[in-house]
Amino acid sequence: MPRELGRVRLVGAGPGAADLLTVRALRAIEGAQALLYDALVAEEVLALAPAACLKIQTGKRAGRTSMKQETINRLMLRLARRGLEVVRLKGGDPSIFGRVGEEVAFLQAHGVATEVVPGVTAASAAAAQFGFPLTHRGEARRLLVATATTQDGAMTAEGWAAAADAETTLALYMGRDQIGGVAERLIAHGRAPDTAAIAVENAGRPDARAIPARLADLGAALATAGPSGPVVVIVGDVAGHAAASAWSDPAAQQRARA
Ligand code: SAH
Repeated sequence: MPRELGRVRLVGAGPGAADLLTVRALRAIEGAQALLYDALVAEEVLALAPAACLKIQTGKRAGRTSMKQETINRLMLRLARRGLEVVRLKGGDPSIFGRVGEEVAFLQAHGVATEVVPGVTAASAAAAQFGFPLTHRGEARRLLVATATTQDGAMTAEGWAAAADAETTLALYMGRDQIGGVAERLIAHGRAPDTAAIAVENAGRPDARAIPARLADLGAALATAGPSGPVVVIVGDVAGHAAASAWSDPAAQQRARA
């Protein structure tokens, strides 16, 4: 058995607003000696780490390229072997498209103890902010969390039939550039073209923007809106419950909160 070496906590940073962190995540960040963070982690959250904490950016941001997964793994291991309290901070929930399985397996294979702290995922943040549920009695019995993008950046070819079911809410991650193609596949598999949908950019943040559309028009609506931030797309009748257009306007939303 390898000797126990330090600990790495894989922590969900939520969608961006610091007050959407869990208390456990906040405590982990406040106690971190080394912090490795992804591109989607907000400055507001990073600012909660102690001044002396070593902060290492691992994701693409402001022109810098991302680190390879292998490099991130080795770096976490090296820091843990130094006996540091290491926090691996990921946007949203680490267990949803967060590579948490790969990182935990690597660390455990090298004798490093790990702990996962869950976070608020983008779809939950979008639903809460724009006033719709992800499931709804008698209307949406299933929630399908899916990505449209394969590892090499192409559109996922298989599996769309499950998302075409009328009682399924589809929460689509990493699909901003493929959404037109995805909508076509869903309709081809039998989802009604007038199914409600909503794309939410920067969910959970003060500058969030909602782009509501019918499924058939979703690709065009997104192309016109031209979002530059992360986008989660919700397809299903639940999206029809999204609050009136005032909520799509961040300024109006802030006024409503005040
Ligand atoms: N672990 C993250 C998802 C990481 S995959 C989570 O649970 O939210 C990255 C994708 O997540 C983005 O392409 C986008 O589809 C979605 N995403 C992450 N943060 C978001 C945000 N604040 N608003 C909208 N979409 C977001």
